[in-house]
Amino acid sequence: MLNEYEFRIVLLGAPGVGKGSQAERLSESLKIPHISTGVIMRKAISDGTALGKEMKKYIDDGVLVPDSLVISLVKERLGQPDCCCGFLLDGFPRTIEQAEALDKMLGEIGAPLSHVVDLSVPEEVLYERMKTRAASGAGRSDDTVEVFSRRLEVYKLQTAPLKDYYASKGMLKELSGLGAIEEVGKRLLEAIV
Ligand code: AMP
Repeated sequence: MLNEYEFRIVLLGAPGVGKGSQAERLSESLKIPHISTGVIMRKAISDGTALGKEMKKYIDDGVLVPDSLVISLVKERLGQPDCCCGFLLDGFPRTIEQAEALDKMLGEIGAPLSHVVDLSVPEEVLYERMKTRAASGAGRSDDTVEVFSRRLEVYKLQTAPLKDYYASKGMLKELSGLGAIEEVGKRLLEAIV
């Protein structure tokens, strides 16, 4: 049953929109685990696991890791005790198939999503942010113009349709991701609590 103090949140948005930083801040404020599929996958890669090796080729190419792999990874993570009373998903779901699998998982335990928020900024801002990140040395191996462009195309084709998926359920909140991290963070928190 949905408890009013339990936040089960999905944060949507294009690569480079600032989802990761905002998710980190928001999960701290709400005291819920921040579950980033990208972070989990990069950790598996740096740990040298077989699953990490399998996923690396997709990530390096800027394309999506197959749904079946990601879905089982998230299912396993959401089954851990710290997710009992809420969570913030960042970077998942990224396809309709993943969104349907998530609805099914949560439906089975009677704990549906409480909020779905989409953050957006104009495309040229996404490129500027990626270039700043890459130039500062804080960039990731998939922060090159070529791979980033592919990630953006993949986002438009496979992930952006999730906005309609959640809007049709009356769940989508759309927010601007423009502005300083603190400013966007405040906007996000106000949209949720
Ligand atoms: P992120 O850190 O969320 O930007 O994800 C980096 C990369 O990890 C993506 O470009 C994908 O290759 C992969 N990835 C992360 N989350 C997912 C997901 N939910 N489905 C498929 N691939 C994913």
